[in-house]
Amino acid sequence: MSMFGQVFVKNNQYKLKGNFHHLTPNMPIRDADDNWKLLGVTNPRDMTYIHSYGGEAVFFESLSKGKLLATRCDNNDCEGKGSIYIPFRIHCPDCLARMSVVDLTDIAKKTARVHTFMECARSGAFNLLDKPIRFINIEFDGVTTILMSYLSVGEPAIGMKVVPIFKTTGPTYTILDLAWVAEGTKAEELPEGFSF
Ligand SMILES: [Zn+2]
Repeated sequence: MSMFGQVFVKNNQYKLKGNFHHLTPNMPIRDADDNWKLLGVTNPRDMTYIHSYGGEAVFFESLSKGKLLATRCDNNDCEGKGSIYIPFRIHCPDCLARMSVVDLTDIAKKTARVHTFMECARSGAFNLLDKPIRFINIEFDGVTTILMSYLSVGEPAIGMKVVPIFKTTGPTYTILDLAWVAEGTKAEELPEGFSF
């Protein structure tokens, strides 16, 4: 039985457990127009990539706990001092100072609204979202940037009030732990594993 590759850090080093690659048989490639003559083989490759979140780890950890974090520049020498950014970014785009982490959950619950949106009937490879995907750009009071995410319940409209939902049961520790629903959506309408 194979086991998904797992990683933890001890003594500042990655420690690996489980399988990070799988042997999969290659298959012949043959020419259907020329007596099924051999042309080559497939070489299946399957790898587990170790993706470090670095300074953004706290953002993903917080999603799993129902919290939406942003960052704010507090550098007195910066023209953009006080600007709040989400998506979560570690350094100020103006002065490059390390920014402070701020909890945006309440502001998001009270002030988030759809800036614009698009509906995608098709998706790329490895998509995990139900189609059509209702991508929304979200504005917040007092926030410099606009957040791209998706509307899980409801039909999007420009200016519509939305509230965040979080995959607090069985979190993936990816951005898929965050979604949005129309204001007024009931808890029983939320997708499995999500809560307000
Ligand atoms: Zn700054």
